[in-house]
Amino acid sequence: MAKKFNGRVALVTGGASGIGRVAAQIFAREGAKIMVCTDSNIKGGEETVKLIKDAGGEASFVKCDVSRASDVEAAVAECVKRYGRLDYAFNNAGIGPDGKRVPVVNIVDCPEEIWDRTIDINLKGVFLCMKYEMRQMLKQKYGVIINTSSVGALKPVPGFCAYNASKSGLIGLTRTAALEVAASGIRVNTVLPGPTDRTLLFEYLTGTNPAVKDEMMNIIPMKRVGHPEDVAEAVVWLCSDAASFITGHVMPVDGGMTST
Ligand code: NAD
Repeated sequence: MAKKFNGRVALVTGGASGIGRVAAQIFAREGAKIMVCTDSNIKGGEETVKLIKDAGGEASFVKCDVSRASDVEAAVAECVKRYGRLDYAFNNAGIGPDGKRVPVVNIVDCPEEIWDRTIDINLKGVFLCMKYEMRQMLKQKYGVIINTSSVGALKPVPGFCAYNASKSGLIGLTRTAALEVAASGIRVNTVLPGPTDRTLLFEYLTGTNPAVKDEMMNIIPMKRVGHPEDVAEAVVWLCSDAASFITGHVMPVDGGMTST
């Protein structure tokens, strides 16, 4: 049976682990060729490629720090060189306070470097990705972009100032982009994951403070945390023709958390 993304090409940033890895696998399951991008976790990126190839799919890896314009431009160019086009872009790379790699810290104590780094990767990174992805999609008169925001955009948590600001900014950025290319065959949407297990972010956060996991359960109406598959399936559906009239949409994938 023909797969729904046969002949299509998907680029996934932050594809070395967590939500990005699983999304890359599901895009491939549906027949797309995959360009996996990540910055420093090259081993993880190569593992994602191997998982896809072992399952009979096609994928390759390119190193790309999304906060650097030259890296992003080169990654999109490499994708088009290898696979001839770019149909779906999942701009998912991000960092957040996990208590270890990025501290949880209130505004009055937040070092400027934490603010700058978070905004550079989470917000400017998506701007840069869309800039170069949309240039290619405009040539094709076809494409779908999905950005990864967070429930933190709608339900801010103290100590997460730069993260919450970056993820809120993505809502405005996504809607602006959607309007700019709506008449050109390109759709742009954003997903807002709730707490999602099997991700580096979640594992570090709950590993630093195990009580955090119980606190999360208490604020999620469905009384479970999300899995990468929950988010990735929503992303792939938003890219599919089943969602062909949906653009500028902000979609929580959060077990009801943002409805409370
Ligand atoms: P993760 O830490 O496993 O994945 C993040 C990925 O981004 C990694 O592959 C990492 O290598 C990559 N990355 C980081 N900085 C980068 C850079 N400068 N350039 C390129 N790649 C970079 O965690 P995840 O949860 O899978 O994160 C994916 C997205 O989901 C992030 O944007 C995150 O903010 C968002 N999110 C996660 C949760 C959660 O609970 N895990 C909740 C809401 C939103």
